[in-house]
Amino acid sequence: MKLSKLALDIAESPTFALNEEARLLRERGEPVINLGIGEPKNKTPIAAVLASAAKLTSGEVKYTPPDGLPSMKKAVIRYTEENYNRLVAPENVIITNGAKQSLFNIFFSILNPQDEVIVIAPYWVSYPEMIKMCLGIPVIVTPEDGTFTPRFEDIEKAVTSLTRAIIVNSPNNPSGAIYPPELIEKIVDLCERKGIYMICDDIYQKLTFDRNIAVPAYQFTKKDVENSHIIVVNGVAKLYGMTGFRIGWVIAPRELIRVMTNVLAQTTSCVSPIAQAAAEGALNGLQSVVEALRLQIQNNRDIVLQELRTFNGVRLIPPDGTFYALLDLRAFSGNSVELSKFILKKALVVTVPGKEFGMEGHIRISFAGSVKDLTEGIARIKWTLDPSSPNEIYIGDKKMIRDWM
Ligand code: PMP
Repeated sequence: MKLSKLALDIAESPTFALNEEARLLRERGEPVINLGIGEPKNKTPIAAVLASAAKLTSGEVKYTPPDGLPSMKKAVIRYTEENYNRLVAPENVIITNGAKQSLFNIFFSILNPQDEVIVIAPYWVSYPEMIKMCLGIPVIVTPEDGTFTPRFEDIEKAVTSLTRAIIVNSPNNPSGAIYPPELIEKIVDLCERKGIYMICDDIYQKLTFDRNIAVPAYQFTKKDVENSHIIVVNGVAKLYGMTGFRIGWVIAPRELIRVMTNVLAQTTSCVSPIAQAAAEGALNGLQSVVEALRLQIQNNRDIVLQELRTFNGVRLIPPDGTFYALLDLRAFSGNSVELSKFILKKALVVTVPGKEFGMEGHIRISFAGSVKDLTEGIARIKWTLDPSSPNEIYIGDKKMIRDWM
């Protein structure tokens, strides 16, 4: 079969592939625990359910303007004012099919072939693939010191005449790191000096723990949104645990939004009005649901830290936000794909290899799920890797044999 070289070069999404593997195992009756995909277990906020149900029962489910329903944009404008302290016009906003489409359309709209985008490791798996799909080149900057926070000098050194953007994801998937405000400030300044975009993927903005906050990049510029180099991506997937509604948005200068609107109109036409109504309902509804989710996830983070305390050989920089922990397992193996496969085979626990995020020797676990799955999942990982574990255990009535990979 003849297929496009460009499409063939795009890697499968590892998280979705692993999710499917977990589903198949579960279907076969295997007691599998999925610590792979990042998806909170909460129910859709009631305000979102009611708003989308009202839209559906109206029977008026048609195309919407490609840049989004005016009322949905209004909700985003209010969110931006409240959370970023920025007044934006409807022309600075586009509603997309998830933050994923926001990011793809940004890359498609700003990149010419061979243009470079600086991506900071560990990074979300989709950035490099999306950049390549848009004929750009991802330039990876990896912290040298084993931490998850890059050194500003390394980012600055990576800028060339071909650099078009730096993508910053803080709180960070997969590490849970929040970059210090001084670093954000320096990146804003660098982007303004060099005339390049700073793409802020703020999808985990409110999922932060203890007293940590992720300071918005806007705080460090005197420019208004129209003249700024900052592009903000956000959405309802993580904020309200509304992953299936597929709603994201972008705040950017209007010329970029205009081009992105054309791209969206020619590809997916618009976003479903039922999903937009749901997101609008969530944004306009009681915000205590966000705090409830944040507290539940913070509690899960504490459980991870507690469970790992007795796990010799594993190192973890405690996550300050998101619902991911990136475990350093180099004491056991440098090959994260093998490690992940081994943990799945021996302990029936799904994890994501760090290689996918540009961090070999690590694996990512998601702590968005139930406390029961989390404690049991970590106990099983510990059993597979710790040489002092018993050789056999029972998972349900299934006898599992531990032999080192
Ligand atoms: N950015 C990051 C860092 C993510 O982790 C995700 C989802 N895993 C997205 C964007 C995409 O979000 P959405 O589901 O809204 O497309």
